[in-house]
Amino acid sequence: MIFKEKNRISSGYARTGTLEIAGQTIETPIFMPVGTQGTIKALSTEDISELGYQLILSNTYHLYLRPGTEVLDHFGGIKKMMGYPKAMLTDSGGYQVFSLSSLFKFFHDGVKFQSHIDGSHHTFTPAKVLDIQNSIGSDIWMVLDDCAPFDSNSKRIKESLDRTHRWAEDSVRHWQDQEYSSKLFGISQGAFDLDSRKFSLEKIQSLPFSGIAIGGLSVGEPREWFIKVIESLAPFMDPLRPHYLMGVGTVPDILDGVRNGIDMFDCVLPTRNARNAQVFTRKGKLNLRNEKFKYSDAKIDDHCTCKVCQNYSLGYLRHLHKAKEILALQLSTFHNLQFMKDFMEMIRNSINTGEFLEFSTEWKNLYNSSN
Ligand SMILES: [Zn+2]
Repeated sequence: MIFKEKNRISSGYARTGTLEIAGQTIETPIFMPVGTQGTIKALSTEDISELGYQLILSNTYHLYLRPGTEVLDHFGGIKKMMGYPKAMLTDSGGYQVFSLSSLFKFFHDGVKFQSHIDGSHHTFTPAKVLDIQNSIGSDIWMVLDDCAPFDSNSKRIKESLDRTHRWAEDSVRHWQDQEYSSKLFGISQGAFDLDSRKFSLEKIQSLPFSGIAIGGLSVGEPREWFIKVIESLAPFMDPLRPHYLMGVGTVPDILDGVRNGIDMFDCVLPTRNARNAQVFTRKGKLNLRNEKFKYSDAKIDDHCTCKVCQNYSLGYLRHLHKAKEILALQLSTFHNLQFMKDFMEMIRNSINTGEFLEFSTEWKNLYNSSN
């Protein structure tokens, strides 16, 4: 078992715990920054270690297409290429096939697709995506699944579940046959049909995965559907394994996830928004291009200890974004990831002191009203 629960709130599912992975003890709930192509955009590996992140995410689809497994094998994996010594989770690439590839077609044992870069033809199977993740050298691997669109009809949902569950079994078999030492996570699906969601969760939890993920959320659905799904699953999630809500990372969504027993989150939003001049603070979001910061010598966030908030004014950051300087992207990304790290620590503290629900209400007001 890689997960240990520490504290749980008296009424509800919010919990703190630890994840043992790649020789590290990681406090949960945790936010994982996304390093799509073997880099968290605009940050160096030294920045990641200065921020103190112990677990980051990378994308199998992207690394398979570029630099490719031959290069990854040559360097002994992406962590060695990056000079990054800590833990990494990789997705299976399935979601990118469906969202980025110009053409894809399912067959019984996998999916054929064309690269979004050069139109070349490729095939992913449950076994192949694990072999690719082995070349990447990540520590937590996700299985290939079929993420049906959120408004799928019952026929499409059934097809997605049959495929997802069959492929989950194929993945476990291959992982065991190869005696891989990484940790394998299963993904439950079911779009927005609550019975299908529960059925899929139970099926995935019947297999010997180290962790359990909920996929197919935060894909453009109405927010109340998202809440309904995680609330309906919370009572049925295996408390002995870590729970990962894939692709979710706004402040209100993380709070609702934690309230429903989620331990792990990832999202491109804090880094993507930073590159678009939007930063997060303890008072809500700021748009750094705003005219009102033109002469401001204030910091992004008075309570933030990051190097950006120690050294740079809003007026300077506004100027950098207006002038489209590379440094604007670097500094804003650095601050937002410091914010996410601090925010998760505040969540953990509020659970440990029994004040999570009050904390959650306060922050949801702050972030819903500043949208
Ligand atoms: Zn800061």
